[in-house]
Amino acid sequence: MTQIDPNKVASVAALLKRKPVVSSACIGCSACVAISWDVFELNDDGYSIVKDISDYEGKDVDDSIIACPVSAISWTK
Ligand code: SF4
Repeated sequence: MTQIDPNKVASVAALLKRKPVVSSACIGCSACVAISWDVFELNDDGYSIVKDISDYEGKDVDDSIIACPVSAISWTK
């Protein structure tokens, strides 16, 4: 029987983690910040940026994607 290397499982899991991205279409309405304050924040120019956190799953990102009026948010890997 083949054994699974836990280190390889962890590295594959890390590769599969999704991260939200905000495009240049952002108009700075701050809807995403209001919905997912732990994921998004406005930068000094008033546009949304993604905070650097370890895991974005379960953080209402999908709700922010739906709420964004200019479809500026998407998932990436
Ligand atoms: S909801 Fe969309 S337009 Fe509004 S701040 Fe977030 S990314 Fe920008």
